[in-house]
Amino acid sequence: MLVSACLLGSRVRFDGRARTVADEIVERWRAEGRIVAHCPEVAGGLPVPRPPAEIEPGADARAVLEGRARILTPDGEDVTRHFVDGARAALAAATRNGARTALLKESSPSCGLHRVYDGTFTGATAPGPGVTALLLQDHGVAVFCESDLEAADARLRTPPAGPAIPDGPHAPP
Ligand code: SF4
Repeated sequence: MLVSACLLGSRVRFDGRARTVADEIVERWRAEGRIVAHCPEVAGGLPVPRPPAEIEPGADARAVLEGRARILTPDGEDVTRHFVDGARAALAAATRNGARTALLKESSPSCGLHRVYDGTFTGATAPGPGVTALLLQDHGVAVFCESDLEAADARLRTPPAGPAIPDGPHAPP
């Protein structure tokens, strides 16, 4: 289970704070050694604290990953490269650790799932996902947000699908 580091208490958000999720499910995952903590933005080379950044208005994470849109700070600094590098680092961490499931922080331009901030720096959101969530989904990782802990836990406990067993006269004994 790849988990946004800020949900685990790491003070890695742009404002130097965490968004800790205190829940028995997360504690159980931790006790079972299932958690791979990751912050894409820090992994992509951004400092803590850092200016907020949002996908530019009218664009989405797909456009960012395909090089057709940018992620900008309020001053117009282009930090896209760090976000894309961070998404790739998250995918590498998931692959390296065999993580098929991720629990990510909603609304972030990296980790958001259902929505992300809309590029106006007003607190308004647009439909997600963020760039890390999208890249993970593109590679078969099941992504959940922090309000979906039970579903993430159920998915974690579902065995991977095996090869289909053929029916009919040629079925194995
Ligand atoms: Fe949390 Fe993800 Fe933002 Fe890092 S990039 S602070 S893990 S929401």
